[in-house]
Amino acid sequence: MAVPTSFEVVHSCGHTITHDLSGRSADQRAGYARWLAARQCTECWRSEHQSDAASTAEWLAAKRIEEQVAASTWATQFDMPPLEGPEKILGWGERTRHQLVTSAYTELVTEGAWDEADWAQLEEQIRLLTRAGWWVDQREAGGADLPELLDAATDADRPTENPFR
Ligand SMILES: [Zn+2]
Repeated sequence: MAVPTSFEVVHSCGHTITHDLSGRSADQRAGYARWLAARQCTECWRSEHQSDAASTAEWLAAKRIEEQVAASTWATQFDMPPLEGPEKILGWGERTRHQLVTSAYTELVTEGAWDEADWAQLEEQIRLLTRAGWWVDQREAGGADLPELLDAATDADRPTENPFR
């Protein structure tokens, strides 16, 4: 009696699928059929993973919109100028600026030794930096590093004021 090439497999999801295993050698078919039985059928596997991906994407998009709204509200409230740069990174730059400046305020003023006058000075520097790409580049920085980063950026923008560097 020849080893069958066609196996009826009951998958873990409960679906019964007939698999053509003629592409495998006779002695491997039974083992492969058992391996298949321990898994969901292709259809179920695909739909589960697609819905995972879809809900992650949806969640990310919702979170991004929420952050964008917060960033725009904040920019208006604190009189922050719109950023400049390639259209596709403008929103990203705004969100990064909002997050970094907010955490800088927490670390330097709320939890640190800065007073409001120190902060007002830093805010002036923040307003001067309207390059979206610059903010995006600082997305991993900690709030307390912001003054140093701003100083470095201001120096780089005006090299003639620092002839000794
Ligand atoms: Zn299934």
